[in-house]
Amino acid sequence: MAVDLRSQYLRAIGIDLWTPRPEVLGLPPAAPAAATVAAALAPTEGAPSWEALRAEVLACTRCALHAGRTQGVLGVGPARAEWMVIGEAPGAEEDRRGEPFVGRAGQLLDAMLRAIGLSRAQNVYIANVLKSRPPGNRDPRPEEVAACLPYLRRQIELVRPRLLLAVGRIAAQNLLGTEESLSRLRGRVHRFGELNTPLVVTYHPAYLLRNPADKRKAWEDLKFARSVFRQLTAGIPDDGHRS
Ligand code: URA
Repeated sequence: MAVDLRSQYLRAIGIDLWTPRPEVLGLPPAAPAAATVAAALAPTEGAPSWEALRAEVLACTRCALHAGRTQGVLGVGPARAEWMVIGEAPGAEEDRRGEPFVGRAGQLLDAMLRAIGLSRAQNVYIANVLKSRPPGNRDPRPEEVAACLPYLRRQIELVRPRLLLAVGRIAAQNLLGTEESLSRLRGRVHRFGELNTPLVVTYHPAYLLRNPADKRKAWEDLKFARSVFRQLTAGIPDDGHRS
């Protein structure tokens, strides 16, 4: 991605520009690899499984949240994608529209992803830990997470991402089964699920809207995620830590 364009995206996120280190500028473009685009555009493999999964989520009554939701919110993005973003749960706007991250936080998430060459239209699949909106946007309860996680696991099996990006403490803690703070979880490569998919943690965009001073740290996380992804796709084993 041209430096000017990246600068525009960073300004849109609200990050002031500084003089980038040479290795930042020297990185090859983060634009989707041809294979990613091909996968996104190819006829949807496993379509029957996606259809079954969507139907199950829409009809789901596994936890009490179904009673108060407008609809279950499965996810958005290509059926196969090399990146997958996982948030917490649908908010009011997402509940109404049936798509994750479509409110203000979603707009910021899109801008953050664009800054590393990703978009939900092309190369990143976006989902939440919970598919139903908790009332008043309260935190998910353990029994709700336990009921809903199998859906996310099936999504991951279908999407087969190379890298998971967990946004926010709630998503990260629930996926990793830990109570460690977000600041301790950042900057490391974790693993998730049967496929042992690498997982990187960053701030939730809604938190960043309330705490814009931390956007710079989020940008560090995105660069870290991008470098992990590049190592993974180049076949270089990651050492599990930020250098
Ligand atoms: N916050 C989330 O975690 N997910 C959404 O889909 C929207 C807001």
